[in-house]
Amino acid sequence: MHDIIFLIYFKLILYIEHDMKIKTRFAPSPTGCLHLGSVRTALYSWLFARRYNGKFILRVEDTDLVRSKSISEKSILDGLKWLGLYWDEGPYFQTHRLKRYKEMIEIMLQKDIAYKCCCTNQELIKERNIQMLKGEKPRYNRKCRNIEKHVTFHKPYVVRFKNPLFGQVKFNDQVRGEIVFNNAELDDLIIQRSNGMPTYNFCVVIDDLDMQITHVIRGEDHINNTPRQINIFRSLGKQEPIYAHLSMILNEKGKKISKRYDAIDIIEYNKQGFLPDAILNYIIRLGWSCGDKEIFNISEMQKLFNLDAISKSSCIINMKKLLWLNKYYINHLPLVYISNAFQDFAKQKNFNIENGPNIESLIKLLKNRYHTFQELIDSCRYFYEDFKTFDIEGSKKYLIVSNIYILHACHVNFKKLSVWCSHVIFRTIVDISEKLKISIKEINMILRISLTGGMHSPNISSVVFLLGKSKTVLRLQRAINYINSCTK
Ligand code: GLU
Repeated sequence: MHDIIFLIYFKLILYIEHDMKIKTRFAPSPTGCLHLGSVRTALYSWLFARRYNGKFILRVEDTDLVRSKSISEKSILDGLKWLGLYWDEGPYFQTHRLKRYKEMIEIMLQKDIAYKCCCTNQELIKERNIQMLKGEKPRYNRKCRNIEKHVTFHKPYVVRFKNPLFGQVKFNDQVRGEIVFNNAELDDLIIQRSNGMPTYNFCVVIDDLDMQITHVIRGEDHINNTPRQINIFRSLGKQEPIYAHLSMILNEKGKKISKRYDAIDIIEYNKQGFLPDAILNYIIRLGWSCGDKEIFNISEMQKLFNLDAISKSSCIINMKKLLWLNKYYINHLPLVYISNAFQDFAKQKNFNIENGPNIESLIKLLKNRYHTFQELIDSCRYFYEDFKTFDIEGSKKYLIVSNIYILHACHVNFKKLSVWCSHVIFRTIVDISEKLKISIKEINMILRISLTGGMHSPNISSVVFLLGKSKTVLRLQRAINYINSCTK
């Protein structure tokens, strides 16, 4: 155990000291969208490469022709780009490398580390049933393993890897420590199907080898594949990469994430008005920590991320925390960055922000009142569009005949103003309050419901200021008309 840890540590030092490039890869199969879980794998691989000045490769594992979809491929590429997780090489597509896989299969057959197997499906099923009846683990009985390699096959065949029959495969997982498998437990894996297509475990090895991948960071659902892949590396006389298997992410109910219900395309978060900075900060903490630090900007992530601090235990998605982080970033990133991001978002949502207040002033005014840009749009809509109805409770309480004279006073006095600024607007409200002997609070509420349609808004003088004179005067008239129409 200690030897292995030392070896791995030593290897890492070698990589770093001899400036041997650390190379990681993200290797999604395009069979579903890019979701929080897959982004975490991509992010950790990307950060590890960045931290050691290495390279990050994108490889699309699309050999499953039935399940691979171009829409998933697009979701993956779009999502990575939106998050800023740019790759240094690729994207490589496994379907473009079929010639290379064929060549390697030939070499493995020649070297006698792979063999052709012409057992039919029927034979395999029959054998499996017998094994199960005997209470044995079903596996291929290796009937074709010793057929002379020069024999010509006239019927369909698959190619199998000659897995070592004895001994163990040990590796030091960077997250879980030493993992040991007995070779006797491992099957002679099919590496080429009867239709000539190579299989996943084989392609991964050839790719990791050709692309000189030094560190494989991936989900723990691949742990069982790792000894098979290591055996292929070793049979080719090559050294396998270092592995780090990430624990599971559970949904808010503590259940395994289901592809159907929980795997939300990361782009959906963009559509709801989340910032990439918040998403990445949220994801890095799904199973990795650095003391009790919670906020990490990209350069801190690149400086601090390491494999040693990845947790073995599974982690649970917490939407409240993601919302909290998004609000944090909206309030802390430079105003001009947030303003540009919001303008892009509004465009994407066809929300016209041309006839309304200055965006930076609006963002400042509504600070701390929203978590996402969608919430910002919902809470600032009245600046841009005439609302259709008044809040029922508010209108019952404030838009009443006995308040009409207050609305008139506001209408006349605002209309008269030649200087339009929050301070002058505030003074005007104070004057009306003193003249009519009505509390400022009461006037504010009457103005609020008349101008925004609702009972909640930031400081009303600032709202009036940002709304502008003509909209304010028109809406006050509209409120007066509304009261009159109710009394008819
Ligand atoms: N293509 C595999 C997947 O999407 C990942 C393989 C790997 O990382 O080795 O789960």
